[in-house]
Amino acid sequence: KARLLQELKGKEDVTLDGRHIQLYANIGGVGDVASVHANDAQGIGLFRSEFLYLEAKDFPTEEEQFQAYKTVAENMAGKKVIIRTLDIGADKKVDYFHLDQEDNPALGYRAIRICLTQPEIFKTQLRAIYRASHFGTISIMFPMIISVDEVRRAKAIAEEVKSELEELGLPYGDVELGIMIETPAAAIMSDELAKEVDFFSIGTNDLTQYTLAIDRQNPKLEAFNDPHHPAILRLIAMVIENAHKYGAWAGICGELGADTSLTETFIKMGVDELSVSPSMVLRVRDKIRSIDSRK
Ligand code: PEP
Ligand code: MG
Repeated sequence: KARLLQELKGKEDVTLDGRHIQLYANIGGVGDVASVHANDAQGIGLFRSEFLYLEAKDFPTEEEQFQAYKTVAENMAGKKVIIRTLDIGADKKVDYFHLDQEDNPALGYRAIRICLTQPEIFKTQLRAIYRASHFGTISIMFPMIISVDEVRRAKAIAEEVKSELEELGLPYGDVELGIMIETPAAAIMSDELAKEVDFFSIGTNDLTQYTLAIDRQNPKLEAFNDPHHPAILRLIAMVIENAHKYGAWAGICGELGADTSLTETFIKMGVDELSVSPSMVLRVRDKIRSIDSRK
């Protein structure tokens, strides 16, 4: 089987009836790019940028971040790289952020909530990403969104950053903007949200946690955690449908995206992109190529 999978390198991610799927990989740092290539993923669908912050003793500078994003963009040689902005907080604690102890960290001060409250941190990261976008094909996505207002505020800050770069004469590329759909609120509001962005990436890890009210870190709850719960599948179907209705594309970057028992379901729902851990790319490719979505 391993040998057969190797033979899928260089093959297209296309169903028997000719539907093309963007099959990308998730990475957590610059060092993971080698495995993206080794497994022949067609892009990076989730670059978890937290690693830059988790590894550091103090806020990573714009220059440090720029170098990391630029390296990944260049190594991907024009293939898409979707960088998720800072998703710190909850389980990902960093000393120099001086975050308060919280009773419910998963429901707390994290991700886009930090970025919108402390825009200087956010702007430093966005400047680094936009500068790096000159060296490849970069998209940006915002995590933990719950409302249209948050998206508009995040976009306004991105616009500020772009005009600042223009004033400085620093070049940047054409950057698609998207959001993660990983809260029930975002899924339910996906019709309105789709009008604001180029794409959605469904984060099924958090979407499952928040929809089923099951702490993703608590092993005791495993018996209750049904990753195929119809509530999750209905939300995913709705998100994809709303994306397409309002001109956005939709992918899945949570663990469920690599669940080959659901690949056919997702394709029939109309999913455009699946982003999975590098080691799963060829297995998912194998599955995609066996599906006839007309049946
Ligand atoms: C998710 O929530 O599904 C996701 C992809 O993000 P993370 O696992 O980093 O929270
Ligand atoms: Mg998440």
